[in-house]
Amino acid sequence: MRNFLKNMIAIFVCLSGMPFLIREWVCRNRVAILLYHDPKPAVFAKHLAHLSHRYTVISLDTLVAAIHRKDFSEIPPKSVVITIDDGHAGNIELLPLFKKYHIRPTLYVCTQIIDTHRRFWFKIDGQSKAEKEKLKRLSNVERLASLKGTVDFEPEKVYSDRQALNMVEMKEMMEGVDFQPHTQFHPILPRCTEVECKQEILESKVDLEKFLGVECSHFSYPNGDYTEREIEIVKAGGFRSARTTDIRWNTLDTPPYQLKAIPITDDAGLTLFRAELTTIPQRLGRWVNSLFWRK
Ligand SMILES: [Zn+2]
Repeated sequence: MRNFLKNMIAIFVCLSGMPFLIREWVCRNRVAILLYHDPKPAVFAKHLAHLSHRYTVISLDTLVAAIHRKDFSEIPPKSVVITIDDGHAGNIELLPLFKKYHIRPTLYVCTQIIDTHRRFWFKIDGQSKAEKEKLKRLSNVERLASLKGTVDFEPEKVYSDRQALNMVEMKEMMEGVDFQPHTQFHPILPRCTEVECKQEILESKVDLEKFLGVECSHFSYPNGDYTEREIEIVKAGGFRSARTTDIRWNTLDTPPYQLKAIPITDDAGLTLFRAELTTIPQRLGRWVNSLFWRK
Protein backbone atom coordinates (compact mmCIF):
# COMPACT_ATOMS: atom_id res chain seq x y z
CA MET A 1 0.00 0.00 0.00
CA ARG A 2 2.79 2.35 1.02
CA ASN A 3 4.77 1.62 -2.15
CA PHE A 4 1.67 1.92 -4.29
CA LEU A 5 0.96 5.38 -2.88
CA LYS A 6 4.58 6.43 -3.28
CA ASN A 7 4.57 5.39 -6.95
CA MET A 8 1.26 7.15 -7.58
CA ILE A 9 2.67 10.36 -6.11
CA ALA A 10 5.79 9.90 -8.26
CA ILE A 11 3.72 9.57 -11.44
CA PHE A 12 1.78 12.70 -10.54
CA VAL A 13 4.99 14.65 -9.81
CA CYS A 14 6.58 13.57 -13.10
CA LEU A 15 3.47 14.41 -15.11
CA SER A 16 3.36 17.86 -13.52
CA GLY A 17 6.73 18.75 -15.03
CA MET A 18 8.24 19.43 -11.61
CA PRO A 19 11.42 17.37 -12.20
CA PHE A 20 12.34 19.61 -15.14
CA LEU A 21 11.36 22.86 -13.42
CA ILE A 22 13.20 22.06 -10.20
CA ARG A 23 16.30 20.87 -12.04
CA GLU A 24 16.47 23.98 -14.23
CA TRP A 25 15.59 26.57 -11.59
CA VAL A 26 16.29 25.25 -8.10
CA CYS A 27 19.38 23.18 -8.88
CA ARG A 28 21.16 25.86 -10.87
CA ASN A 29 23.09 27.17 -7.88
CA ARG A 30 22.29 24.54 -5.27
CA VAL A 31 23.85 21.15 -4.69
CA ALA A 32 21.90 17.99 -3.92
CA ILE A 33 23.57 15.39 -1.70
CA LEU A 34 21.82 12.16 -2.58
CA LEU A 35 21.61 9.59 0.21
CA TYR A 36 21.52 5.84 -0.48
CA HIS A 37 22.02 2.80 1.73
CA ASP A 38 22.22 -0.49 -0.14
CA PRO A 39 21.07 -0.05 -3.75
CA LYS A 40 21.34 -2.97 -6.17
CA PRO A 41 23.67 -2.38 -9.13
CA ALA A 42 20.92 -2.75 -11.78
CA VAL A 43 18.81 0.01 -10.16
CA PHE A 44 21.75 2.24 -9.31
CA ALA A 45 22.99 1.98 -12.92
CA LYS A 46 19.71 3.46 -14.16
CA HIS A 47 19.93 6.32 -11.67
CA LEU A 48 23.51 7.12 -12.72
CA ALA A 49 22.62 6.98 -16.40
CA HIS A 50 19.81 9.48 -15.74
CA LEU A 51 22.08 11.78 -13.71
CA SER A 52 24.93 11.64 -16.22
CA HIS A 53 22.84 13.39 -18.89
CA ARG A 54 21.33 16.06 -16.70
CA TYR A 55 23.58 16.73 -13.73
CA THR A 56 27.28 16.88 -12.83
CA VAL A 57 28.34 14.49 -10.10
CA ILE A 58 30.97 16.14 -7.89
CA SER A 59 32.80 14.91 -4.79
CA LEU A 60 31.81 15.80 -1.25
CA ASP A 61 35.26 17.36 -0.77
CA THR A 62 34.60 19.79 -3.62
CA LEU A 63 31.27 20.87 -2.13
CA VAL A 64 32.57 21.22 1.43
CA ALA A 65 35.61 23.21 0.29
CA ALA A 66 33.31 25.59 -1.62
CA ILE A 67 31.04 26.06 1.40
CA HIS A 68 34.02 26.80 3.66
CA ARG A 69 35.40 29.28 1.08
CA LYS A 70 31.91 30.76 0.59
CA ASP A 71 32.56 30.55 -3.13
CA PHE A 72 30.54 28.37 -5.50
CA SER A 73 32.32 29.61 -8.66
CA GLU A 74 33.95 26.22 -9.19
CA ILE A 75 30.73 24.27 -8.65
CA PRO A 76 29.04 23.44 -11.97
CA PRO A 77 25.32 24.22 -12.21
CA LYS A 78 23.10 21.23 -11.37
CA SER A 79 25.71 19.42 -9.29
CA VAL A 80 25.00 16.40 -7.12
CA VAL A 81 27.07 14.55 -4.53
CA ILE A 82 26.43 10.85 -3.98
CA THR A 83 26.63 9.47 -0.45
CA ILE A 84 25.92 5.94 0.73
CA ASP A 85 25.42 5.23 4.43
CA ASP A 86 26.39 2.43 6.83
CA GLY A 87 28.87 0.30 4.80
CA HIS A 88 26.56 -2.50 3.65
CA ALA A 89 28.34 -5.52 2.14
CA GLY A 90 26.38 -5.14 -1.10
CA ASN A 91 28.10 -1.81 -1.80
CA ILE A 92 31.11 -3.64 -3.29
CA GLU A 93 28.95 -4.51 -6.30
CA LEU A 94 28.61 -0.80 -7.13
CA LEU A 95 32.34 -0.29 -7.70
CA PRO A 96 32.24 -1.01 -11.49
CA LEU A 97 29.57 1.69 -11.81
CA PHE A 98 31.63 4.25 -9.89
CA LYS A 99 34.45 3.53 -12.34
CA LYS A 100 32.22 3.57 -15.42
CA TYR A 101 30.79 7.00 -14.58
CA HIS A 102 34.08 8.37 -13.16
CA ILE A 103 32.46 9.36 -9.87
CA ARG A 104 33.86 9.26 -6.37
CA PRO A 105 30.96 8.86 -3.93
CA THR A 106 31.31 9.14 -0.16
CA LEU A 107 30.56 6.00 1.83
CA TYR A 108 29.95 6.66 5.52
CA VAL A 109 30.69 3.45 7.42
CA CYS A 110 30.18 2.18 10.97
CA THR A 111 33.73 1.52 12.00
CA GLN A 112 33.08 -1.26 14.55
CA ILE A 113 30.81 -3.17 12.18
CA ILE A 114 32.88 -3.12 8.97
CA ASP A 115 35.31 -6.04 8.63
CA THR A 116 33.42 -8.07 11.27
CA HIS A 117 30.44 -10.45 11.42
CA ARG A 118 28.63 -8.07 13.79
CA ARG A 119 25.21 -6.81 12.77
CA PHE A 120 23.51 -3.47 12.32
CA TRP A 121 20.96 -3.26 15.17
CA PHE A 122 18.28 -2.10 12.70
CA LYS A 123 18.87 -5.09 10.42
CA ILE A 124 17.91 -7.84 12.84
CA ASP A 125 15.25 -10.27 11.58
CA GLY A 126 11.83 -10.01 13.16
CA GLN A 127 11.77 -6.28 13.93
CA SER A 128 8.85 -4.31 12.54
CA LYS A 129 9.15 -0.67 11.47
CA ALA A 130 7.05 0.33 14.46
CA GLU A 131 9.41 -1.49 16.85
CA LYS A 132 12.44 0.16 15.29
CA GLU A 133 10.87 3.59 15.53
CA LYS A 134 10.10 2.92 19.21
CA LEU A 135 13.70 1.84 19.86
CA LYS A 136 15.02 5.07 18.35
CA ARG A 137 13.28 7.04 21.09
CA LEU A 138 14.82 5.11 23.99
CA SER A 139 18.04 6.10 25.71
CA ASN A 140 21.06 4.24 24.35
CA VAL A 141 21.20 1.95 27.40
CA GLU A 142 17.47 1.18 27.22
CA ARG A 143 17.64 0.49 23.47
CA LEU A 144 20.48 -1.99 23.92
CA ALA A 145 18.71 -3.67 26.87
CA SER A 146 15.54 -4.01 24.82
CA LEU A 147 17.40 -5.48 21.83
CA LYS A 148 19.13 -7.96 24.13
CA GLY A 149 15.82 -8.98 25.71
CA THR A 150 13.75 -9.28 22.54
CA VAL A 151 16.10 -10.52 19.79
CA ASP A 152 19.22 -11.43 21.82
CA PHE A 153 21.21 -8.74 20.00
CA GLU A 154 24.48 -7.38 21.30
CA PRO A 155 26.65 -4.85 19.43
CA GLU A 156 29.76 -7.03 19.65
CA LYS A 157 28.05 -10.37 19.07
CA VAL A 158 29.43 -12.28 16.08
CA TYR A 159 26.91 -13.82 13.68
CA SER A 160 27.40 -16.44 10.95
CA ASP A 161 26.64 -14.10 8.05
CA ARG A 162 28.32 -10.79 7.24
CA GLN A 163 26.30 -7.59 6.79
CA ALA A 164 29.06 -5.03 6.26
CA LEU A 165 31.99 -4.49 3.90
CA ASN A 166 35.25 -6.14 4.88
CA MET A 167 38.83 -4.87 4.74
CA VAL A 168 39.70 -6.58 1.43
CA GLU A 169 36.65 -5.05 -0.27
CA MET A 170 37.29 -1.61 1.17
CA LYS A 171 40.92 -1.62 0.07
CA GLU A 172 39.75 -2.58 -3.42
CA MET A 173 37.18 0.23 -3.38
CA MET A 174 39.43 2.95 -1.97
CA GLU A 175 40.56 4.24 -5.36
CA GLY A 176 36.98 5.02 -6.39
CA VAL A 177 35.42 5.71 -3.01
CA ASP A 178 35.80 8.30 -0.27
CA PHE A 179 35.27 6.39 3.01
CA GLN A 180 34.22 8.44 6.03
CA PRO A 181 32.98 7.57 9.54
CA HIS A 182 29.33 7.13 10.56
CA THR A 183 30.00 6.34 14.27
CA GLN A 184 31.18 2.97 15.55
CA PHE A 185 27.86 1.12 16.11
CA HIS A 186 25.15 3.43 14.70
CA PRO A 187 23.47 4.61 17.94
CA ILE A 188 20.95 7.45 17.96
CA LEU A 189 23.40 10.12 19.12
CA PRO A 190 21.02 12.49 20.94
CA ARG A 191 19.88 9.47 23.03
CA CYS A 192 23.46 8.79 24.16
CA THR A 193 25.22 10.20 27.20
CA GLU A 194 27.92 12.73 26.43
CA VAL A 195 30.61 10.11 27.07
CA GLU A 196 28.94 7.61 24.71
CA CYS A 197 28.44 10.30 22.11
CA LYS A 198 32.08 11.40 22.16
CA GLN A 199 33.25 7.81 22.00
CA GLU A 200 31.03 7.00 19.00
CA ILE A 201 31.96 10.11 17.02
CA LEU A 202 35.62 10.65 17.86
CA GLU A 203 36.69 7.02 18.05
CA SER A 204 35.05 6.23 14.72
CA LYS A 205 37.43 8.77 13.13
CA VAL A 206 40.39 7.16 14.90
CA ASP A 207 39.21 3.65 13.86
CA LEU A 208 38.79 4.49 10.19
CA GLU A 209 42.00 6.48 9.85
CA LYS A 210 43.91 3.57 11.39
CA PHE A 211 42.03 1.08 9.23
CA LEU A 212 42.59 2.87 5.91
CA GLY A 213 45.74 4.87 6.62
CA VAL A 214 44.21 8.12 5.35
CA GLU A 215 42.77 11.18 7.07
CA CYS A 216 38.97 11.30 7.44
CA SER A 217 37.25 14.65 7.77
CA HIS A 218 33.55 14.16 7.02
CA PHE A 219 30.90 12.65 9.26
CA SER A 220 27.23 11.70 8.95
CA TYR A 221 24.79 11.49 11.84
CA PRO A 222 23.13 8.04 12.19
CA ASN A 223 19.44 8.26 11.32
CA GLY A 224 20.10 11.95 10.69
CA ASP A 225 19.63 12.72 14.39
CA TYR A 226 21.71 15.49 15.92
CA THR A 227 21.57 18.39 18.36
CA GLU A 228 23.90 21.29 19.14
CA ARG A 229 25.90 18.89 21.32
CA GLU A 230 26.70 16.58 18.40
CA ILE A 231 27.60 19.53 16.15
CA GLU A 232 30.05 20.81 18.76
CA ILE A 233 31.68 17.39 19.26
CA VAL A 234 32.08 16.88 15.49
CA LYS A 235 33.50 20.37 15.05
CA ALA A 236 35.94 20.08 17.96
CA GLY A 237 36.92 16.59 16.77
CA GLY A 238 38.58 17.94 13.63
CA PHE A 239 35.90 17.11 11.07
CA ARG A 240 35.27 19.59 8.24
CA SER A 241 31.64 18.61 7.64
CA ALA A 242 28.73 16.53 8.85
CA ARG A 243 25.75 15.39 6.79
CA THR A 244 22.24 15.28 8.21
CA THR A 245 19.12 13.79 6.62
CA ASP A 246 17.33 17.16 6.59
CA ILE A 247 15.62 17.21 3.19
CA ARG A 248 16.87 20.21 1.22
CA TRP A 249 19.56 21.37 -1.24
CA ASN A 250 22.88 22.85 -0.14
CA THR A 251 23.81 26.44 -0.86
CA LEU A 252 26.70 28.72 -0.07
CA ASP A 253 25.06 29.46 3.27
CA THR A 254 24.46 25.86 4.40
CA PRO A 255 26.28 25.30 7.71
CA PRO A 256 29.02 22.71 6.99
CA TYR A 257 28.08 20.65 10.07
CA GLN A 258 24.44 20.49 8.99
CA LEU A 259 24.73 19.51 5.33
CA LYS A 260 21.33 18.75 3.82
CA ALA A 261 20.45 15.56 1.96
CA ILE A 262 17.94 14.10 -0.47
CA PRO A 263 17.20 10.51 0.60
CA ILE A 264 16.67 8.20 -2.37
CA THR A 265 14.71 4.92 -2.18
CA ASP A 266 17.31 2.20 -2.84
CA ASP A 267 15.08 0.29 -5.25
CA ALA A 268 13.38 3.30 -6.88
CA GLY A 269 12.37 2.85 -10.51
CA LEU A 270 13.17 5.75 -12.82
CA THR A 271 9.83 7.51 -12.30
CA LEU A 272 10.16 7.45 -8.52
CA PHE A 273 13.83 8.46 -8.77
CA ARG A 274 12.98 11.47 -10.98
CA ALA A 275 10.22 12.43 -8.53
CA GLU A 276 12.53 12.02 -5.52
CA LEU A 277 15.02 14.45 -7.08
CA THR A 278 12.30 17.08 -6.53
CA THR A 279 12.07 16.05 -2.81
CA ILE A 280 8.25 16.11 -2.97
CA PRO A 281 7.60 12.39 -2.19
CA GLN A 282 10.10 12.42 0.71
CA ARG A 283 8.59 15.56 2.25
CA LEU A 284 5.12 14.03 2.04
CA GLY A 285 6.47 10.77 3.50
CA ARG A 286 8.08 12.58 6.46
CA TRP A 287 4.86 14.43 7.11
CA VAL A 288 2.83 11.18 7.12
CA ASN A 289 5.44 9.51 9.35
CA SER A 290 5.27 12.40 11.81
CA LEU A 291 1.54 11.74 12.16
CA PHE A 292 2.06 8.02 12.81
CA TRP A 293 5.18 8.04 14.95
CA ARG A 294 4.41 11.12 16.95
CA LYS A 295 5.73 10.99 20.52
ZN1 LIG B 1 23.06 5.00 8.88
